[in-house]
Amino acid sequence: MKAKLQKEKPGKALSRERGRVLIVTEEPDSIDPGPLTTAGLEIVGVCRGAAAPISLQKSRPHVVIASSALRGISSGELTNMLGQMEDGIPLILVGAKASTLNRRQAALSAGAFDYFQLPAEIDLLVLRVGQLVKVRQTMDRLRSEAGLDHLTGLANRRRFRGALDREVERWRRYGVPCALLQLDIDHMKAINDRFGHPVGDVVIRQVATTLSAVSRDNDTAARLGGEEFALLLVGICEAKATAAAERLRALLAELNIPGVGNISVSIGVAACPAHATSQRTLYAASDRALYVAKNEGRNRIAVAPLLQENLPGV
Ligand code: GH3
Ligand code: MG
Ligand code: MG
Repeated sequence: MKAKLQKEKPGKALSRERGRVLIVTEEPDSIDPGPLTTAGLEIVGVCRGAAAPISLQKSRPHVVIASSALRGISSGELTNMLGQMEDGIPLILVGAKASTLNRRQAALSAGAFDYFQLPAEIDLLVLRVGQLVKVRQTMDRLRSEAGLDHLTGLANRRRFRGALDREVERWRRYGVPCALLQLDIDHMKAINDRFGHPVGDVVIRQVATTLSAVSRDNDTAARLGGEEFALLLVGICEAKATAAAERLRALLAELNIPGVGNISVSIGVAACPAHATSQRTLYAASDRALYVAKNEGRNRIAVAPLLQENLPGV
C-alpha cells in the first residue's frame, strides 16, 4: 500500500469532457473535420471501414460518423458492432447524396441515428453530434455514480462485488493473488449516541478518506454499508495483506477527529489463494476474521485460518 489517491490523468479526463468523434470513411477528404473541431469536438480517429473494429477499441469515441458507402463493412454490421460496445455507441451516416426521406429511413432502419448530406448539411451534423455526445456523457456519469456510495464517494457494495469477482477470476486465470480486508468501526453506536449522528457521519467519511489514501490505483476501497468497509488489495499475498491491515489499523487509531478524538477499527483479513479460492469463500473468510477481531477485544486485526489447516487429518 502507498499513499496515492485514485485519480484519472488530467489529460485523459479533459479529452473525455470534450466530445470524442471517430470518422469512418473510404475517402478521408470527403468529411471536413473543421466545423466539428470548431464546435469543441475532438476527432479521435479517421479510418477506413475495414479498420473500424480496431480504431473503435483504441479511440473509445462517444459518437461515430461513417460514410454510407463503406467497403468491407455494411452500415448494419457497423451499427451491430457499435451496439455491442459499452451500452451502444451512436452512429450517424453521411454521404454526398441528398438526404431524401428514403435515405434517412434506410439509415434509421439500419440502426443509425440519422443521415446527412455533406457538405450541405454540415451544420445539422454538428448539432446532432453535439446532442448525442451529451446523452453519452450523461450515461457515463450515471453509470459511474451508480457504483458510488453517496456519503463517502467510495465504491458501493455493487461495485465492490464486481471488483471482487474480477480479482478472484484474475487469480484463477493468471495466478495473480489478491486480499480482502473487511473493516468495521468500533462502538459506532456509542459515537453517535455521544456526539450525534452528523458527527458520526464525519467519522465515517474520515475513515473513508484514509482508506482511499492508502489504496493503489487498482485496489478497491468500498463502503459496504453503515460503518462497514472493504479494501480489496490486488496482487499481494497474505503476509503483505496482514502487514497492510496492521498499518491501516494503526493509522486510523492515530487519527484525531475534530470533536471526537480517537476512534478505533477492527479488521478481518483473508487472502486468495492462502485462505480462500472463490469470491464467496474469500468474502466469508474475511467476514469471519472480522468477527474474531471484534470478539478478541476490538482495535485489532485477525487473519483467516490457512486453507491447509482446514483439511481433515492435517
Ligand atoms: P461494534 O464495535 O461491535 O462494531 O459496535 P457498533 O456500535 O459499531 O456496532 P453496531 O452494529 O451495534 O452499530 C452500528 C452503528 O452504526 C449503529 C448505526 O446507527 C451506525 N450507523 C450505521 N450507518 C451509519 C451512518 O450512515 N451514519 C452514522 N452516523 N451512523 C451509522
Ligand atoms: Mg457493523
Ligand atoms: Mg461497528
